[in-house]
Amino acid sequence: MEYCANGVEPCLSQATLEMLQTWVQENPSFDSPTVSSAAQSDPGLVRFREHLAKSQVHALMAYPLIYRSTSLGWLVIQQCVPYYRWNESDLTLFSVACGHLATALETLRSFTELQALAFKDSLTGLNNRHFLKERLGVEISNAQRLHYPLSLAILDVDHFKRINDTYGHPAGDTVLRKLGFLLRTNVRKGTAVARWGGEEFLAVFPNMELGVAAVIMDRFRERVPQTIHVEGLAVTISAGLAQVRSDPGATVEQIQVRLLEEADRNLYAAKRNGRNQVCWDASASSGLTGAAPFVDTGQPSRAVSLPF
Ligand code: GH3
Ligand code: MG
Ligand code: MG
Repeated sequence: MEYCANGVEPCLSQATLEMLQTWVQENPSFDSPTVSSAAQSDPGLVRFREHLAKSQVHALMAYPLIYRSTSLGWLVIQQCVPYYRWNESDLTLFSVACGHLATALETLRSFTELQALAFKDSLTGLNNRHFLKERLGVEISNAQRLHYPLSLAILDVDHFKRINDTYGHPAGDTVLRKLGFLLRTNVRKGTAVARWGGEEFLAVFPNMELGVAAVIMDRFRERVPQTIHVEGLAVTISAGLAQVRSDPGATVEQIQVRLLEEADRNLYAAKRNGRNQVCWDASASSGLTGAAPFVDTGQPSRAVSLPF
């Protein structure tokens, strides 16, 4: 980050960063500032004279940002007034500022780390239910405001309990990890995925008609048994989909609840119909009506479009 005094041209560039990095590395001082009062004639900065002249930097001071004996970086002050001499009050001011800055940076870093942890599922590395609930609310609002479709899919591993019971809980965990990876690496940019809980995952497709989302989901469903096996046995999944419907007067929370309920109903229909399939209500799609066939892969599709 760079802050400039009024009338001073910014000079934060790769060349400036390289110069500063070389300078502080060649003048290591862990807890005291590195100072150059006449930077353009400083023998230690001779390689950068041209750059300093171009940027009109006459004096430099680099203060280490230390938090509990850990160096977090530097605060560099570049003086653009010629023949300026750093004085005691400059040193005191920057020293105090660096103490506060280091504490603020560390607080921000640990907060960001904690926040990331709170939104992550530790088994699969995907975002968790808490994250997706928040994100879904935002996506629904955006879809309403900008008048675009929003589809959602709930995925559930078929007979997962049997996998656990037959091959053990760690084998079940491995299936979830692999499924999480497959999902993360097979979705288009903009699709939000998360572990919804247990062996259920959620995918949110902003600006996508239900029929299109169903095609994508069905391709994914096909890929799962080709990729994930337990002791030679192919793992399968079922999925239920839903799309935000026009619902004047409904709050985002109400829309969210209805959307999840509808996807859940369709998931259970997929289970009832024999599993390893994708179900959605074709009439819910606003543009592409669900009568549209799935991808022509040359193989029979197992996707089921419900008549209700
Ligand atoms: P269906 O095809 O109808 O979905 O049947 P199912 O066996 O997959 O569903 P059921 O809800 O009966 O069982 C889900 C199991 O998932 C039960 C639970 O012990 C297991 N499970 C939930 N979370 C985890 C986890 O983190 N790791 C493992 N290994 N198992 C889990
Ligand atoms: Mg389940
Ligand atoms: Mg299941």
